[in-house]
Amino acid sequence: MSVPVPCTFEVNGRTYRPGARVYAAICVDGCGDEYLSESLIRGRMPNLAGAIRKGKRFMGRGVIPSFTNPNNSSIITGAPPAVHGINGNYFLDPESGGAVMMNDGKFLKAPTIVATAARAGRRCAIVTAKEKLRTILAHDLDGIGFSAEKAGQAERGTHGIDGVEALVGEKTPPIYSPDASVYVLKAGAAMVEQGLADLLYLSLTDYMQHKFAPEEPESLDFHARLDEQIGRLLAAGVVLGITADHGMNAKHSADGRPRVVYLDPILLRLVGPGCRVILPITDPYVAHHGSLGSFAVVHVPPGTDLARVRRGLMGVPEVTEVMEKDIACEKLQLHPERLGDLVVMCGRDTTLGTSPAEHDLSQLDRPLRSHGGRYEEMVPMIVSEPLNAAYRAKAEGDPRNFDIFDFTINGTGS
Ligand SMILES: [Zn+2]
Repeated sequence: MSVPVPCTFEVNGRTYRPGARVYAAICVDGCGDEYLSESLIRGRMPNLAGAIRKGKRFMGRGVIPSFTNPNNSSIITGAPPAVHGINGNYFLDPESGGAVMMNDGKFLKAPTIVATAARAGRRCAIVTAKEKLRTILAHDLDGIGFSAEKAGQAERGTHGIDGVEALVGEKTPPIYSPDASVYVLKAGAAMVEQGLADLLYLSLTDYMQHKFAPEEPESLDFHARLDEQIGRLLAAGVVLGITADHGMNAKHSADGRPRVVYLDPILLRLVGPGCRVILPITDPYVAHHGSLGSFAVVHVPPGTDLARVRRGLMGVPEVTEVMEKDIACEKLQLHPERLGDLVVMCGRDTTLGTSPAEHDLSQLDRPLRSHGGRYEEMVPMIVSEPLNAAYRAKAEGDPRNFDIFDFTINGTGS
């Protein structure tokens, strides 16, 4: 097995100095801290418990909107959306007037840590559960990049690897399954064991977290399966950094019905016709959340009195925050090119929708759990090795989930 080459590289204003170790950052999609706690206290994640004893567990602040694409793009670049441009899964194209899905690397405005590390001589690999994320994150990567969803279709010329099913020892998993996430970690562990990669980003999917609360048996079993693979990575000598893109909360009433504030009728009353609501959680994989999250972007017709609309929306009891675009760009570090006039967030147990007709809730086979807003912002961070003094201090400050590569690479070792 080849020994990893120490190197120094700079990306998005930060210098990384990986040593002769294998490093892997894992994004456990939708992993609110409660998921880890419930599994840890029941002894279902012994390998993670060992990593925490040796290393450090702390909380990090994610990107708002607390959705998958903005946070994964931040983790892979080490920078907020203001730098990389991915504010959500969707934005409204002002020229065409259509909603555009940001599912391609061309939307990324900043270089990634992993692609830069590859140019500096590291053997890099990115594995995602969903294909839509692979196309963003593996942008410009001279290395291995594939998704569990399309594992069987990976080819050397386009994905830097073939024979993934043989490597993992399993067929391509269905995307709507716990297996899709476990497969990502299995692929990562197999690549490390075979000396194919020494700097990895492994990004899971939140299918299980959307369905099950932390203490439910299905969740506990799922985390036990993740833990087995975490154990494999640790046994292979990997320095592990683990975080989440966002948390996950129940968004339903006691009788199991989703709690939704529909914005279209409210805006019709406040402004009249011509408003456009963009829900950046919308993506092709809606079955488990019905496109309902706790964050929305509102476009209003030119000449609208924004302050009046903002006050009107703040008058809705479930709405917790409404920001005009310039404030949202500044405080949430979002990119101004891909944002509407107002950003709206709601309470922990509520979601924002457009109108009842536009959300197919019949596909929800479990009470709604979702994310997107302020209450899914804080996420766990774990580094499997002791932190040096500088990073112990950072961990107690206001660390961001997108500092996970920084903590894992620069925070370990002296
Ligand atoms: Zn996610």
